[in-house]
Amino acid sequence: MRIGVLSDIHANLPALEAVLAAMPSVDAIWQLGDIVGYGPHPDQIVARLREAGASGVRGNHDAAALGELDLEAFNSDARRAIEWTRSVVSEDTLGWLRSLPTRVELEGFTLVHGSPRDPTWEYVTSTPVARAGIAAMTTPSGLHGHTHVPIVFILDDGRLDAIGPADGSRLTIDGRRVLVNPGSVGQPRDGIPTASWLILDTDADAISWHRTAYDVEAVQRAMIEVELPVRLVERLSYGL
Ligand code: ZN
Repeated sequence: MRIGVLSDIHANLPALEAVLAAMPSVDAIWQLGDIVGYGPHPDQIVARLREAGASGVRGNHDAAALGELDLEAFNSDARRAIEWTRSVVSEDTLGWLRSLPTRVELEGFTLVHGSPRDPTWEYVTSTPVARAGIAAMTTPSGLHGHTHVPIVFILDDGRLDAIGPADGSRLTIDGRRVLVNPGSVGQPRDGIPTASWLILDTDADAISWHRTAYDVEAVQRAMIEVELPVRLVERLSYGL
């Protein structure tokens, strides 16, 4: 089975459309949350994911858009974007977001937004946190987002390695336990502005990471039009 894995799309329709156009034919699309927030296209993104039959989980920004998290937990730009999202998003979109779990197990993988032990908030940014996350999973391996940085943690005979994949990087899992982040489609933060995503091939037991250029200025214009915070607009140019 070949699966396209996307995370942190953040209501950026030009980025999602470019990724879907660049993706080879897949049997399924999985998404790892933060579908909305930051970007100007919440309803369109949800419609596109539903059309693609995507499975997956909700993130902290999705939960905030549903009114299920205290906005005090977010910085001022994120909060303003969530408030704007709440003011425009349709009931239909909210209903779909509400139906998403915080954790789901598919094909031997645990899917979460943050980390396996705290799917909503924890950032997997170090090997101790990754090790604790792998220990918290009942599946061999897992997929997560939230940091907006592509990375893979590989547990091999007790040793935990972290590798930062580049465009075209390929990893054969080879019976090891892995915790894998595809990076962010809609707001990359690794200094590279192109959309980041991955393909999981369960038959080949392999993962490949990909970067896709998209029309950054088009989404920036749409953000300015609805008066989303300028810092959120500018960071897309730099991937930071
Ligand atoms: Zn996010």
